[in-house]
Amino acid sequence: MIADQALLEHLESGHPARAKIEADLAKYQAGFRGEQNLAYFLDTFQKDDWHLFYALKLKDCQIDTLLLTPTFISLLESKNYAGAVRFETDGQFLRRVTDRYEGYPNPLLQVGRHRALLRKWLANYGVPQLSIEADVSIAFPTTIIENPGHLRHVQEHVFHAEHAPLKIEKLMGKYKHTGNLAKFFPQVEQLLLQEHIDEPPNVLTLFNVHQSELQRGVCCDKCRAFDMQRIYANWLCPRCGNKSKNAHIPMILDYFLLLGSSMTNKQCREFLRVNDRKLIRNLLIKMEFWPKGNGTGPGLYYERPSHEWAETIYKKYRQIKRR
Ligand SMILES: [Zn+2]
Repeated sequence: MIADQALLEHLESGHPARAKIEADLAKYQAGFRGEQNLAYFLDTFQKDDWHLFYALKLKDCQIDTLLLTPTFISLLESKNYAGAVRFETDGQFLRRVTDRYEGYPNPLLQVGRHRALLRKWLANYGVPQLSIEADVSIAFPTTIIENPGHLRHVQEHVFHAEHAPLKIEKLMGKYKHTGNLAKFFPQVEQLLLQEHIDEPPNVLTLFNVHQSELQRGVCCDKCRAFDMQRIYANWLCPRCGNKSKNAHIPMILDYFLLLGSSMTNKQCREFLRVNDRKLIRNLLIKMEFWPKGNGTGPGLYYERPSHEWAETIYKKYRQIKRR
């Protein structure tokens, strides 16, 4: 999603790919809000020895939220459906959109499948059967959950995001003495961390945009001109007079999101349209990027930061919005 945003930032306002990218971004943002909602409630509830993973990719499935605790694992599938959702006794899942119902994949089956896959995946590493719960969290408190057959597994495993802390508390009670994760916790945490390498999709290929179409330079967040100049310790926009200390930060992040998983000093200079090798080096080190590779000059490169870090920085320096 932030790669979509990065691409939009660097395309001219009249670029033909914009509409498609904006539509894609809007779709992601709806999902993002859903997860954010759940994240908000789970964050109020964090414990030192818990580990929350978001958007965890395991082989061919993506797990929205995985909570690893010393006694159990909770998988939460986050759905941001508005209106009403309906779980039929025959396993069908429907959404009410305005006044009619439409069939959709059943999220309970989906999260159940994820649990089975996770079990299998852990078994491959010699981890025995663990206590894993699979639930569906509905983002908006206004969404009506219909369960006409009073199915017990729906009553127990589908709830609004705001009830997530209560649900987790119940699970803590349930597994207090029976949970069997403690011994394997470090191993499982390590395995999940290893797996959690988020390759951003190659958005340029996806939207058929050529590298040469990207606007380069340091962008002014007031007037959107890619013309900011380094004057002493600031970036100054010659067009509107806007001054910034950190205008280079989102640009450097955009490089990693759009152009590759590693970046040399030269590539960074070309992307930011800055001539000063030393300045780039210092700016990168200030952002805690340390050069890797051999030698002192052209053999050195910087590696793409983790997805989590990129998102945090994005939230801080660039408002995530649809432009
Ligand atoms: Zn400006």
